[in-house]
Amino acid sequence: MNAFEYVNPSNLQDVPQLLSQKRDRKSVVMAGGIDLLGELKDNLITPDRLVNIKALDLRYIRHSKEGVRMGATTTLSDLVSDEEIVKTYTALAEAAESVASLQIRNVGTIGGNLCQRPRCWYFRGEEFHCLKKGGHKCFAVDGENKYHAVMGGGPCHIVHPSDTAPALIALHATIKIHGPNGERTVPAADFFLLPMENLYQETVVHSNEVVTEIFIPKPKAGTKSTYLKFKEKGSMDFALAAAAVALRVEGGVCKDVQVVLGGVAPKPWQADASALVGQVVTEERVVAFANTVLKDAAPLRDNAFKVTLSKTMIKRGVLALV
Ligand code: SF4
Repeated sequence: MNAFEYVNPSNLQDVPQLLSQKRDRKSVVMAGGIDLLGELKDNLITPDRLVNIKALDLRYIRHSKEGVRMGATTTLSDLVSDEEIVKTYTALAEAAESVASLQIRNVGTIGGNLCQRPRCWYFRGEEFHCLKKGGHKCFAVDGENKYHAVMGGGPCHIVHPSDTAPALIALHATIKIHGPNGERTVPAADFFLLPMENLYQETVVHSNEVVTEIFIPKPKAGTKSTYLKFKEKGSMDFALAAAAVALRVEGGVCKDVQVVLGGVAPKPWQADASALVGQVVTEERVVAFANTVLKDAAPLRDNAFKVTLSKTMIKRGVLALV
């Protein structure tokens, strides 16, 4: 591991300058450090400077009649133990609780969970100089691709690893980013990028910017939400497939529904669920909807099981809220 400078800014305004790259100098943001330490140990990154943002005042959960604001360094455990989040923004609480282990959730932050890098083992493996690292080949195409994307892939077939991201999109969250020109706010649905849009980064956050806050508007009365995650291991694991669902039913009729899949595409996969709106939500209709969502899936050699699994996640997630 190379030697690096470690800085603890106490003023947010100083962060973009500290992150600005000069020639070969590389600076990276450190929040909880959960993913970052893995990247350092795997020699995936060799920064000259770590900019620790935990000294900034970004660990908070603030409820209001408009919704909830969460600072970027709010831990996943903070979210899970907040009663109002559990009650009103249930999908987020369930997603946060599904992440890794209690020890990791006590340190891992919501901002870091959104910005973590992909888990593709070729990407994490030092010996594979794949497309995403500037090479000429995606090793997953002909290699071990059980955990890779079945939708939205190409030329790189990573899956997005965050559990909280699908929940935030289903709940219409927005994400605040601070950079050299001040603040900008991006809908969570527009925060993530496909490899065909940008092969080298997974979010719209530039290297001299930092995520500062997440806002979720208060759902309309009667809205329920949930996050279902299917893991290979019963203990801590990433999702093979997951579904975040938010649903509002009035008088037995679906008024609004959001379905966002995790674990199956390079970014959280937002389904067009408009066919269910105005309908009585029956199992038959949900199955038909799930089939439509997955109809263009293009599995690789070893991951066709994710298509069936995703349909099941959608069905169980929607029907659990009716
Ligand atoms: S899926 Fe992406 S990260 Fe993995 S080997 Fe292919 S190009 Fe590299």
